[in-house]
Amino acid sequence: MALDELNEQIRACRKCRLWWGAKNAVPGEGPLNANVMLVGQNPGAEEDETGRPFVGRAGKFLNKVLAHNGIDRQTLFITNIVKHVTPENRKPLPDEIAACVPYLVTQVNEIKPKIVVLMGTAAWKAPRAEGVEYVETVHPSAAMRFAKIRKRFEEDFAALKKRM
Ligand code: SF4
Repeated sequence: MALDELNEQIRACRKCRLWWGAKNAVPGEGPLNANVMLVGQNPGAEEDETGRPFVGRAGKFLNKVLAHNGIDRQTLFITNIVKHVTPENRKPLPDEIAACVPYLVTQVNEIKPKIVVLMGTAAWKAPRAEGVEYVETVHPSAAMRFAKIRKRFEEDFAALKKRM
């Protein structure tokens, strides 16, 4: 399936409760031949406004860590495990993840990245595709707030750069 078609399906999706409180779906963005995919938990308020992933505070922090490690954000495909904003930016619930994760599976199957970085415990629930390396790290919104978590996040991205 072409990703344009998938994006249309996501925008029209009513498979869980999250579409109801959203202004825009956030399917994800990046090159369709990306070697690395980043997967967060859920879009936040600014992502909901713009329909784009990681454009709010956590996204700016992520951009800084990427730039510090010489990783060009434009080369990555960036998405979330659920494609609509959650109430009060809470973690997505198990039934919401179960409803939405087939879209992520299709994205991984189409893009065929070498590495998928799962950011945050909700993202860690993503099913694993054969032949793809999965890296679990913390979520940037936690990393930007707590020094100990930030250290792990920064180390994981430094290690990622070496494997890219
Ligand atoms: S979060 Fe996912 S499953 Fe739920 S309505 Fe949005 S696109 Fe559909």
